[in-house]
Amino acid sequence: MTQTEDFFKHVISHAKEYGFIFPSSEIYDGLSAVYDYGQYGVLLKNNLRNYWWQSMVQMHENIVGIDAAIFMHPTTWKASGHVDAFSDPLIDNKDSKKRYRADVLIEEHIAKIEGKIEKEVEKAAKRFENFDAAMFRNTNARVLEYQQKIDAINARFKAALENNNLAEVKQIILDLEIVCAISGSRNWTDVRQFNLMFHTQLGSVADEASTIYLRPETAQGIFVNFLNVQKTGRMKIPFGIAQTGKAFRNEIVARQFIFRMREFEQMEMQFFVKPGTELTWYEYWKETRLAWHKALGMPPQKYRYHDHIKLAHYANAACDIEFEFPFGFKELEGIHSRTDFDLKAHEQYSGKKLQYFDPELNESYVPYVVETSVGLDRMFLATLSTALQTETLDDGTTRDVLKLHPALAPVKAAIMPLVKKDGLPDKAREIMRTLQFDHYCQYDEKDSIGKRYRRQDAIGTPFCITVDHQTLTDNTVTIRHRDSMQQQRIAIAKLPQTVMEAVSFKKLFV
Ligand code: ATP
Repeated sequence: MTQTEDFFKHVISHAKEYGFIFPSSEIYDGLSAVYDYGQYGVLLKNNLRNYWWQSMVQMHENIVGIDAAIFMHPTTWKASGHVDAFSDPLIDNKDSKKRYRADVLIEEHIAKIEGKIEKEVEKAAKRFENFDAAMFRNTNARVLEYQQKIDAINARFKAALENNNLAEVKQIILDLEIVCAISGSRNWTDVRQFNLMFHTQLGSVADEASTIYLRPETAQGIFVNFLNVQKTGRMKIPFGIAQTGKAFRNEIVARQFIFRMREFEQMEMQFFVKPGTELTWYEYWKETRLAWHKALGMPPQKYRYHDHIKLAHYANAACDIEFEFPFGFKELEGIHSRTDFDLKAHEQYSGKKLQYFDPELNESYVPYVVETSVGLDRMFLATLSTALQTETLDDGTTRDVLKLHPALAPVKAAIMPLVKKDGLPDKAREIMRTLQFDHYCQYDEKDSIGKRYRRQDAIGTPFCITVDHQTLTDNTVTIRHRDSMQQQRIAIAKLPQTVMEAVSFKKLFV
């Protein structure tokens, strides 16, 4: 097992052991790609959602939020293209019976070639002083050869997808000699399209007309409410509608813990703009969203843009913000310039006008849309896996510590009496009461103080406040900082301000 696989396993077991994430219905052996958030997980998830909501809705005068229902009229999904086109190409290996996404097999093959390029660049960087990586990529024969291979595969793959030529997709897999990771064979079935929407019946009449879907994205709830919000909120273009909520996809290959789930949560914002200005806004949101991620303090080199080579039927520009998860760079957020596709399609299917009267131009038009769409669970995984660190201390012991941004920490402060007697518990509870209106705090009197610190480190609590005998005489406590483990004696009166300053979301916006 590689170090990264080991680390990823460590993240998963830490998440379970400390009450962040449990497999769904675990007593029945779980349900594939469905997870429950535990007592600390739900707090971290809420904090991530709040950070998104505050930055999108609270900090933008021209963005408002809604909460649309999960069930929608089935024609919504006909209009959006999901009934006909929301599918992934799947392929099975006949020997292992393992199912794969054909596009993912090809993308992973390309990633391997990219890995070879990176190795060449690294080797050369070690050899030459004043090394210019960009220049090396443009001139080195071996790198150019690898790059040509990638370009050729991409071009062939793009053409196959555009023509919906599934036989060609299979042929690419055969020509690239891609093998099944389990059987090691190239004994592949044909490639088929598989629709990812879950459906169920509305009411008691089980006929075709009563089939409804669990929404596969939250965006459509925003599009169908475009006019309701615009009129009642007297919104002027450009403006945005934001929403967070559950989405459901019957993913073919659901692995990698909460990265790819069948039930997950999205945080989406549709920004309605004047036609012709969409690409300027697209660039604006691309930059703004990356800055939002980076403000959380995770290493900047863990993020990169990935521009789409094949644009979805509704888009005229699209990119992903990718994050370096424990298993490599993968999509964290999508930013899409969706043109007027959705509103026009809903106009056509509903027969209702979905237009905006622009008082400056004195005319009506169907606005264009730039969308930002981030998975809350993927944010959670990115945050948890980056924050979890194992440190060796001076005395040779180790500690697992979650170095979360304090604004995201599930518990902001743990209040601990040094001993369970002499009135220290009462004093500790009194302090707890002054803090818990504003912050989620924890009272802990069990085990040695060292063990209590370790428990709080493991869930990312930024402050441990210890009440000792001196507290009773001078109203001071020790406050221990999670990352530095430094302890400081401060007046109880200063605690509310100290904690508030550290955990406020405000710091993320300045
Ligand atoms: P992928 O290519 O990884 O399947 P996607 O391009 O289909 O993702 P979008 O439709 O753009 O994803 O959805 C927007 C966001 O929703 C993604 O960036 C991701 O963070 C999140 N998301 C999508 N599918 C899942 C899933 N199955 N589990 C968890 N999060 C998801």
